[in-house]
Amino acid sequence: MHKKPILFPFILYVLFILSGYSTSSAQGKVDIPNPKLSVYVVDVGMGDAIFLEIPPKDCMLIDAGSWDNYGIDHLLQFLQDFFAESGHEAYQSTIDVVVASHQHKDHIQGMLKVLNKFKVTTYIDNGVGCKFNKSKANKLVKDIEKLLKSKSIKHTQITDQLIESKGKNGVYTDNILDPFASVDVFALAGTPSPVDANENDNSIVLKVKCDSISILLTGDAEEPEEQSIIERLKKDGNIGALDVDVLKAGHHGSNTASSEEFVQLASPSMCVISVGVASESPKTKSFRLPKESVVRRLEQYTSRVLDEEWEAQMFPDKKPKSAKSEKPLIFKSKKGIYFTSSDGTIVFKTDGKKLIAESN
Ligand SMILES: [Zn+2]
Repeated sequence: MHKKPILFPFILYVLFILSGYSTSSAQGKVDIPNPKLSVYVVDVGMGDAIFLEIPPKDCMLIDAGSWDNYGIDHLLQFLQDFFAESGHEAYQSTIDVVVASHQHKDHIQGMLKVLNKFKVTTYIDNGVGCKFNKSKANKLVKDIEKLLKSKSIKHTQITDQLIESKGKNGVYTDNILDPFASVDVFALAGTPSPVDANENDNSIVLKVKCDSISILLTGDAEEPEEQSIIERLKKDGNIGALDVDVLKAGHHGSNTASSEEFVQLASPSMCVISVGVASESPKTKSFRLPKESVVRRLEQYTSRVLDEEWEAQMFPDKKPKSAKSEKPLIFKSKKGIYFTSSDGTIVFKTDGKKLIAESN
């Protein structure tokens, strides 16, 4: 799946219209010809890389990681193809904002290549950087910081303290994080103080909003960080900020993330899990993601009603490590839930009113 070239346009899968949640397997009959925002969850295998196309000339990349080289290659090819595409000249091979949700390799492994190959205006991370002793990515983080400096790329951080002191109603934005005219980008979480010993819970969590459509990008935030977002928003009387149309499920569909309350409050119409195919990567195999319980939970709170059959294919060659382990699955077809492992790169397009999901 990963090795396929990126082809534009993708095959149309579904249509979701706010007025009445109408769905369609329109097979190319329905499209959003002039989207104001397209969010590509790039198939990088086990890792995250999410690209926001904001016409006519802006774009943003959240994470550039994978445990596997082919995932990084796939991301670089995706970006190269995007910028080379006819009609994309105005983007000038420049990524306006790059965000590293946190400092794990499956989120930043490809950053040096991205920063070397494309122009980047601003780089935002969680500020943990080399100060975090337990980070296995220390050398990589140092190299990224050095490269940012040498290229004079603006480098800023998002922390919970920033959100609490300078944010409004539990969410934060400024024109470094969001220099865009037609979309709004908000931070719902950054690094807590003190820094969490679990780097996943230092993830920058972003909400991207285009008029009435919104998508939540959770990095690898696990339940403690989800709870802290909920508490902050409740305290500030803004729990509705969690209500979104698309949820990028946290931590690759792990059962340490996507807690029931969080998913229920998000009540997305569609979900996406960025995860690898186990047969292609030892790392992916050892992580055994996504967890079935998480997929079932997402399914339960994902509102889009579909009549499609879905099937789950167990890995025949792998037995659970213990009785408690859940079997990893490759999920095919969907109930509004997409998997990069089976769907490849997925794009959510919106004009601010309608939302469609397509995959290649
Ligand atoms: Zn991860």
